[in-house]
Amino acid sequence: MTDTTHTQNHAPAVEKSDSEWREQLSPEQYEVLRNKATERPFTGEYVNEKRDGTYRCAACGSELFSSDTKFDSGTGWPSFTEPANRANVKLSADWSYGMHRIEVTCAACDGHLGHVFSDGPGSTGERYCINSCSLSLDESPAAAAAADETEPAA
Ligand SMILES: [Zn+2]
Repeated sequence: MTDTTHTQNHAPAVEKSDSEWREQLSPEQYEVLRNKATERPFTGEYVNEKRDGTYRCAACGSELFSSDTKFDSGTGWPSFTEPANRANVKLSADWSYGMHRIEVTCAACDGHLGHVFSDGPGSTGERYCINSCSLSLDESPAAAAAADETEPAA
C-alpha cells in the first residue's frame, strides 16, 4: 500500500482487494485486468463489434473508448485510434517479454486494458490495442443525454 512513489498520480479512485476483484470479474477478466494477461487474438467478443456506443472499463465502468474511433486492425483485438477521454487512461512503459511497449491501464481502477502502438491509421497515429474482456460496450446514448436533468432515471 506504500508504493506511491510515482509522480502526480493519486491512488486509483476505485480500489478493491484481490478477493473482491476475483468475485466481481470472470476468471478471464481477472487474469487480464488484474494480472495483465492478454486474451488470445480473435477470441474476444468485441473484435468485430460494429455497434455504436461507449466502451467502458469492464471492472469499474469508467468511459474509455468511443465506437467512433474503433477500426478493424486485423490484429484480433479491438483497436481504437484514441481514448474517449485521455484522462481516463494511464500510459506507462512496459518492458516485459523483452519488448518496449506502452501499457494502457484504466486510470480509475488501475485495470490492465492493453497496449498502445504508434502505427495507427488516424490523425493521432496511435493504435490502442485493447483486450475485449477489459471492455463493456454501453449502447446507451452518450453521457450528454444522461446529464440532461429532464430525462427521468430509467
Ligand atoms: Zn476501470
